[in-house]
Amino acid sequence: MKLEKIKLRINSIRTAYPMYDELLTFFEKIVTKQDEFKQQIQIESSFPDIEESKVKKKIEAGIPLLEDEEFELDFPSTSQLFDALCEITKAQNDKLRNEVQKIERTVKESNVDLRLKSLVSREELFRKVAHNELDYIDKISDEFSLNESVLTLLTLNSVKPSIELIAHQLQDSVDIESWSGISCPICGSPPVISELRGEEGRRILFCSFCSTDWQGRRIMCYHCGNTDHQTLRYFYTQEEEKYRIDVCDKCKHYLKTLDSRKFDGEIVPSVEDIATLHLDILAEGENYQNVALTSAAHF
Ligand SMILES: [Zn+2]
Ligand SMILES: [Zn+2]
Repeated sequence: MKLEKIKLRINSIRTAYPMYDELLTFFEKIVTKQDEFKQQIQIESSFPDIEESKVKKKIEAGIPLLEDEEFELDFPSTSQLFDALCEITKAQNDKLRNEVQKIERTVKESNVDLRLKSLVSREELFRKVAHNELDYIDKISDEFSLNESVLTLLTLNSVKPSIELIAHQLQDSVDIESWSGISCPICGSPPVISELRGEEGRRILFCSFCSTDWQGRRIMCYHCGNTDHQTLRYFYTQEEEKYRIDVCDKCKHYLKTLDSRKFDGEIVPSVEDIATLHLDILAEGENYQNVALTSAAHF
């Protein structure tokens, strides 16, 4: 999605929800930086080369395309973007500055540092995240007492431009319509938000990581795959019918959904995620967890 389109949506949300101004400004700085790096990323040579028949088999079997595939990231660019995102995040407030400084002291680029102490290699961290092995963030956050939400934000957003480029390249080779999985057909990440589209209310899911969108079942939990009407429901807030929260009482997860039939502006999933923070607070207050990897609610 073009940066200009994202910025336009940020501005209209800023007007409609002034309380999110600070968060929107932070987000705008991140996407602007990512866009700058996207221009310089070199990954053409490392696009995963997956045979057509294998692509078909994986999609039919519900296996995300990038799962178990080898591909390399442009490490220097990803690492520079990581540094830039650290600076943006440190400038937010004292608490975030402290958390980021701890991460900077632990997640190292240089081999010398790594040989001297038991620290975390950036390359390893980026590689794990690109391959959807997010348990690794959990593990090193515990091991080095790092703030897991901040580390996730920094790492996912550093790798995101590369993954978006790879996904964009692969989207044409995939018949996404035959996909029935609960996560993204390309990278395997959960959706950040979903949309009910058209008169019949088809459900479109938006990947939180590689920005692929796909059509899924209308009635399903996108965390546990539950399709039982009895344990799936949704609720609105009184004043906003265009946004709703879909909840699963089996696994206690929720997904925010917007009804594009009640929408006037163009939908930008990552911005709608911020515009609906009050719904996260509501859902979390009821002890539901977001199906998405990271939620703007944590900053
Ligand atoms: Zn994805
Ligand atoms: Zn569920």
